[in-house]
Amino acid sequence: MSNVPVAVVTGSNKGIGLAIVRALCKQFPGDVYLTSRDPQRGQAAVAQLQQEGLRPLFHQLDIDDLQSIRALRDFLKDKYGGLNVLVNNAGIAFKVNDTAPFAVQAEVTLKTNFFATRNVCTELLPLMKPYGEVVNVSSMVSASALGRCSRELQQKFRSDTITEEELVQLMTKFVEDAKKNIHEKEGWPNTAYGVSKIGVTVLSRIQARLLNEQRKGEHILLNACCPGWVRTDMAGPKATKSPEEGAETPVYLALLPSSADAPHGQFVSEKTVQPW
Ligand code: NAP
Repeated sequence: MSNVPVAVVTGSNKGIGLAIVRALCKQFPGDVYLTSRDPQRGQAAVAQLQQEGLRPLFHQLDIDDLQSIRALRDFLKDKYGGLNVLVNNAGIAFKVNDTAPFAVQAEVTLKTNFFATRNVCTELLPLMKPYGEVVNVSSMVSASALGRCSRELQQKFRSDTITEEELVQLMTKFVEDAKKNIHEKEGWPNTAYGVSKIGVTVLSRIQARLLNEQRKGEHILLNACCPGWVRTDMAGPKATKSPEEGAETPVYLALLPSSADAPHGQFVSEKTVQPW
């Protein structure tokens, strides 16, 4: 078994994830795994970084596929005995002009951004080594979507006692309400992406609390963040930041020094803790 520290970035064959891997290859003192659901796209991205003189490693990971998550989990357990840094970056967004019905957008977006990200956490958080860091890439859109929820939903999503099961029930209810076209009447904002990222931010707050309660002595720091508005296939060419600039806050959170005990359980943008 290798004692080398190990970092994993989900959805890192392009965009912000690829830029996070690039930065970690330069700054993280250990093995850095570029992961992709498609091995060919993943290997092409590895080759691109190799041309830049960097040495990322590759592992397949489709976060929508529990078998794929578990294969990575078993690989990390066998080869490294755990994991030091996990960046949950993989995500999807329908284009504004996409004609897919809202119910479909809600189901598909929540499936990957919330439920699949949660599955990765369920399988990989138990592997986190002491002084490790977990970064969940959310979005400022989560905060603006929260502001457009009913007062009752806002209260639940800001609660310091909400459980993971209650959050899962709420995210499931959103998808069901969208299918019945009653989501707005039920107090939801009209944004599937926004609700999925509310899920990611609240999940992060819950998981940080559980780490405090159950693994306090392990000094694992877990945060959600926004990368900013970044020029990628998701956000398009008009966005203000390069992928490298978008990677800055996630990488800062992934490389917090072992002496740090904060931020933890926060929503962070521009390396600054944001109100929730
Ligand atoms: P992107 O260029 O579209 O890249 C998304 C990455 O996620 C791709 O590598 C994609 O793989 C991967 N992915 C999607 N579904 C996956 C799955 N089921 N399993 C594994 N990988 C999967 O988007 P981006 O802008 O870099 O976004 C990265 C993260 O930042 C997302 O969570 C996004 O919501 C968040 N974000 C972005 C912005 C922005 O302005 N760009 C702002 C706020 C937050 P494929 O190539 O196989 O599709």
